[in-house]
Amino acid sequence: MSILVQKFGGTSVADSQKILAAARRAVRARQEGKQVVMVVSAMGHNTDQLVELAGQITDQPRPREMDMLLSTGEQVSVALMAMAIHSLGHEAISLTGAQIGIKTDSTHTKARIRSISTERMRRALEEGKIVIAAGFQGIDEDFNITTLGRGGSDTTAVALAAVLRADACEIYTDVDGVYTTDPRVLPEARHMKRVSYDEMLELASLGAGVMHNRSIEFAKKFSVPIHVRSSFTDKPGTMITALPEAPDQPVGGAALAKKEARVAILGVPDKPGTSLAIFSKIAGRAVAVDMIVQDVGAGGRADMSFTVLNDDLRATLEAAEEVAAELGAERVVHNDAMAKISVVGLGMAQQTGVAERMFRALADAGVNIQMITTSEIKISVLVEREQGAPGLRAVHTTFGLETEPPGAASPSVLSPPPADGDALAVVARLQKMEELAIDDIALDDTQARLSVCGIADEPGIAAAIFEAVAAGGIFVDMIVQSYGREGMSKISFTVPQKQYQQCRDLLQELAGRLNCGPISGSEKVSKLSVSGIGLRSHTDVAIRTFRCLADAGINVDLINTSEVRVNVVVEGQHGRQALSCLQAAFADCMH
Ligand code: ADP
Ligand code: ASP
Ligand code: MG
Repeated sequence: MSILVQKFGGTSVADSQKILAAARRAVRARQEGKQVVMVVSAMGHNTDQLVELAGQITDQPRPREMDMLLSTGEQVSVALMAMAIHSLGHEAISLTGAQIGIKTDSTHTKARIRSISTERMRRALEEGKIVIAAGFQGIDEDFNITTLGRGGSDTTAVALAAVLRADACEIYTDVDGVYTTDPRVLPEARHMKRVSYDEMLELASLGAGVMHNRSIEFAKKFSVPIHVRSSFTDKPGTMITALPEAPDQPVGGAALAKKEARVAILGVPDKPGTSLAIFSKIAGRAVAVDMIVQDVGAGGRADMSFTVLNDDLRATLEAAEEVAAELGAERVVHNDAMAKISVVGLGMAQQTGVAERMFRALADAGVNIQMITTSEIKISVLVEREQGAPGLRAVHTTFGLETEPPGAASPSVLSPPPADGDALAVVARLQKMEELAIDDIALDDTQARLSVCGIADEPGIAAAIFEAVAAGGIFVDMIVQSYGREGMSKISFTVPQKQYQQCRDLLQELAGRLNCGPISGSEKVSKLSVSGIGLRSHTDVAIRTFRCLADAGINVDLINTSEVRVNVVVEGQHGRQALSCLQAAFADCMH
């Protein structure tokens, strides 16, 4: 009998009527002959209220007790859901994370799933019951209750769909699918019929709160087709599968993350091991660092900027001050009112000109860019928080995201691809469900690096630089902008080696006009790319990369991270050695 997982988010179970409506939906699927597993979130804003309550007691509640508290929300809703199904005359059983056997590690409030046992669920399903699983929670080795991070019920749902080899996983929420950007922020956002795992993974990690990012890692790893749809209508929603909606479009979606803080450690010694020291110290506090911009140094000193969530700022600053003192860095600066605007698209990898279109749109809207990182399928910029929404709108408009792209998948081709037999076999074998999976480690030694220092803190400079570079027919690969002292930033990027001199001349001329500079560069650099799944949420990946390069005495010039790829640029002559170091460092998690 086919298994269907249906997940209901907070708004979909916000009151008794909504719980009954969700129950009727599950019963309908059961009557159609399916075995049904429901995954249920806490009612309405219950989790927020619990967080608020803890905050009234102390501003530093211990994570273990937070999990004990937050997990109660889901326990209420699964019990009520079971009662609702019983009242409709059907059999159901509610189960907590522990009762299902969702084993996690012990990272309270951000735990990762290690294994899930299926026996009890299968038994209940065979008995004809609807299984109602509490989302978002698990249990560690010592029977402590853990939670998977805010929004984590999506991950419970997709993980259950993976281990039960369900035919589909439906995510019922308060929107009727995935939009090109958050429709609550931009009403002109467009409903997408389909979105690829890779794009959704990036979008979810970059602020599209409609799906928990780790749920998409699971979905991709185990080929679970996801249907995101409204709990209030029967309209078809959005399919998340391996295929993008319109493969030729450079940009498929845009996202805004509003709770960002920027931290910079200025004047760190520019030598191997510095990045490792910094990021392992911060990771030691279980803080996920985003937008890492390790910039090439001058005078033996470099500046290291990165972003973290506002909630993690306090812990990050403590760690940063500590490590700055240990390394003899100049000082630590921060800004806690930032926002990050990102565009994502699989088509970007094959096209040029996407970055400068984004920068131009922002410049024309008067939005100043403080930091930039790009990867093959995404570009992110950091801006002042109040410029976030206007910036998002400018970018959304410039890529025409509000209109359906030509060649968008028609409903007839929307059926999910067949489940991959191998992936399912992996599920059966997997002990550690969320293990890191690396697909490839590659070396590109055809690139050169150029850097423009002294970029003033005003809109339009990045746009002018990349427009001029594009007009010169120069193909830009990786772009990194760091925000340094006195509001001056530095933009570094890579170009093909044969275009190095031409680009350098062009920048020299431009620097005079734009009043920035000096220009520096390296004629031959090596770019190393580690690609796989969930690389950024495994903080471990950047650290392992830094560690193995530091051990080999190789200095990192530039780094950028995304969910599916970590790129580092090192001096050209170190390329081969760096490649073998990375291959050895990740040998245990290669596919
Ligand atoms: P649930 O409680 O059902 O899990 P969430 O609040 O977590 O619901 O997610 C749904 C919300 O995600 C929507 O109300 C919407 O505002 C927001 N959202 C953010 N980005 C997007 C997007 N790209 N497409 C659709 N919704 C989005
Ligand atoms: N109730 C949890 C939260 O609000 C988990 C979830 O809804 O996905 O974050
Ligand atoms: Mg959610």
